[in-house]
Amino acid sequence: MGEDLRQVYDEVAKCNRCGFCQAHCPIFDITKDERNVARGHNAHVRSLIEGELEISEDFKDPLFECLLCKACVANCFPAVRTERNVVAGRAEYVRRVGQPRTMRFLFHRLLPDPVRMGRFVRLAAVGKNTGITRLARALGILKWFGKDFDRVEGLVERLPTRFFRERARTLRLDGGAGRTVAYFVGCGFNFVLPDVAEATVEVLVKGGARVRVVDNVCCGLPAYGYGDLEAARALARKNMDALEQVDAEVILTDCGSCSAFLKEYPELFEESPEERDRASRLASRVKGFSEYLAEDGCPSPRGHGFRGKVTYHDPCHLSRYQGVVGQPRQVLRGLPGVEYVEMPEADRCCGAAGSYNVLHYEQSMVVLDRKMENLRKTEAGVLATECPGCLIQLRYGVRRASLPVRVAHVSELVREACS
Ligand code: SF4
Ligand code: SF4
Repeated sequence: MGEDLRQVYDEVAKCNRCGFCQAHCPIFDITKDERNVARGHNAHVRSLIEGELEISEDFKDPLFECLLCKACVANCFPAVRTERNVVAGRAEYVRRVGQPRTMRFLFHRLLPDPVRMGRFVRLAAVGKNTGITRLARALGILKWFGKDFDRVEGLVERLPTRFFRERARTLRLDGGAGRTVAYFVGCGFNFVLPDVAEATVEVLVKGGARVRVVDNVCCGLPAYGYGDLEAARALARKNMDALEQVDAEVILTDCGSCSAFLKEYPELFEESPEERDRASRLASRVKGFSEYLAEDGCPSPRGHGFRGKVTYHDPCHLSRYQGVVGQPRQVLRGLPGVEYVEMPEADRCCGAAGSYNVLHYEQSMVVLDRKMENLRKTEAGVLATECPGCLIQLRYGVRRASLPVRVAHVSELVREACS
């Protein structure tokens, strides 16, 4: 995507205003406001390009309330790429009006620098794990950082004190004669859920892979989703440099959002043929966890691990952005003792959507409640998924609804079955 909003004009003009998207949009379902549905977003962006609309809060709010879940795209006859048009609108807003200092700091100072990011998370971990944050919440101090901040703080139960990259130094990475796999470490799994990253590496090594942990930074999706294309490209360039240092047949990540965005790098550089070609060479080697396992085969399960009903939640960035739908189910069905049950509306967004649950807490919780209702119907003991944002949100949902369900990454279940 380029810097000129007019580049999406043909795409917004494809919308025939049929309104079929209304029935599928989780946000329209809550607000019943035409400005929140794909037809409204496309009309807004089109009016802006045609000079009939000024940038205002009225323009900004609905655009930033979109989950970018692509449920509309999947149910749109001309397949209008509304998610792309929405990001183009956000980018125009950021270019003309700017972004809050906190977001700029996050995208330009924290995400490109894992050491600085690590210091921040460690500080937050001390606050959270010692109860200081709880005290600050009780005293109302957290509200100083934003009206929903005291509730948002509860999304994660505990923060680790040792990140995955530190733990990786003592992990076995060489599995033998299998493929060489470059493991791209997502921020969520490095800083918040390192157990998942460890499980992924263990499964790969058990399957015979030689794992190379990539010295990457954030994939850039949070910045892109917010409309800060400059920050997203800067992060992508750092990652392309890092990935080119690793001689591997496969670039693997267990984060559905990272794999989706790495595969989209060529679009990010569509105006620069040289960088686009470089991005395409890397993108063609990217695979998600189950995608890799479905091709390469699971390490032989030994029959350990969970026995009973397991269900699965499709992360939007894995299912709708990459078409990875059958592979996680195939992997789960292959685990001994697992009775796979399909969840109603398994592909409906859980409301995490990157930082949506932080920036739009109330709406995100309505979306999450519906997911919990669907989960309840399955009577499953385990809910599996493949994205850190979804994992955090779904674990929060299960705690909130007091459901006796464990939420796990597919890689954690495979590791348990094979250990
Ligand atoms: S976005 Fe697609 S489904 Fe929605 S009104 Fe336009 S053409 Fe119809
Ligand atoms: S991407 Fe999702 S939230 Fe956004 S308009 Fe489409 S269906 Fe609605």
